[in-house]
Amino acid sequence: MVRAEDVHKSFGPLEVLRGIDLVVNSGEVCCVLGPSGSGKSTFLRCVNHLEKINAGKIFVDGDLIGYHERGGKLHEMKNSEVSRQRRAIGMVFQRFNLFPHMTVLQNVMEAPCRVKKENKLEVRDRAAALLDRVGLGDKVDSYPGQLSGGQQQRVAIARALAMRPKLMLFDEPTSALDPELVGEVLDVMKDLARDGMTMVVVTHEIGFAREVGDQVVFMDGGVVVEQGPPAEILGNPKHDRTKAFLSKVL
Ligand code: ATP
Ligand code: MG
Repeated sequence: MVRAEDVHKSFGPLEVLRGIDLVVNSGEVCCVLGPSGSGKSTFLRCVNHLEKINAGKIFVDGDLIGYHERGGKLHEMKNSEVSRQRRAIGMVFQRFNLFPHMTVLQNVMEAPCRVKKENKLEVRDRAAALLDRVGLGDKVDSYPGQLSGGQQQRVAIARALAMRPKLMLFDEPTSALDPELVGEVLDVMKDLARDGMTMVVVTHEIGFAREVGDQVVFMDGGVVVEQGPPAEILGNPKHDRTKAFLSKVL
């Protein structure tokens, strides 16, 4: 579902991604760990067109992100094509960024109605069902400001799912939450994983990575240092950098 080949990204003189290679198969959960500044968020943002890469290739569901390949050359995509690709990828950030002046239901309905111009009644049903699924069936008419952080993050997940993405990217979705609210968000993510959603999750929740991850990727200094099944990477890391990182977070 996701294939990154030798992906490079620089901000001015700073090379943040220095050749990322990564494969996430359909239906898999890939948990990305790594120290601050190692390029985890930048990588997710490149997958979702929020940043442009300088070299390499990213494929999502076989589709080259951002470019067409013709005659061995890469040509930049039109904006409309970029939008099409972005719509198929859901993203959930550390901060939930809900629209404060809209109800929970309106937040979830917004993108399918405005971006995809879908039928409002159908979207309403789907949004209500998604909110039910994330345990917020009784909060449809509340405003974000009336919800806890964990509830708001669950709305953000429902909002991303409302676009029927084939891939979900999570960037530290629980790290801004009070500890007692982390579990309810992770439970929703576990449920999604069980349902077969392909997910790339940047997280410091080692327990989640161990339990739900099909693979764990350890990034440092803009490269993938080590990747493999959770038991291997978390239980028996080979690289000193992975060991040093895990000794701090475990
Ligand atoms: P964290 O765990 O703290 O979230 P991260 O692994 O997600 O870290 P990134 O946010 O990807 O790290 O940042 C990697 C490096 O790129 C950092 O040195 C950061 O300062 C730099 N960086 C990120 N975005 C930009 C930008 N838009 N302009 C310039 N530098 C940037
Ligand atoms: Mg980050």
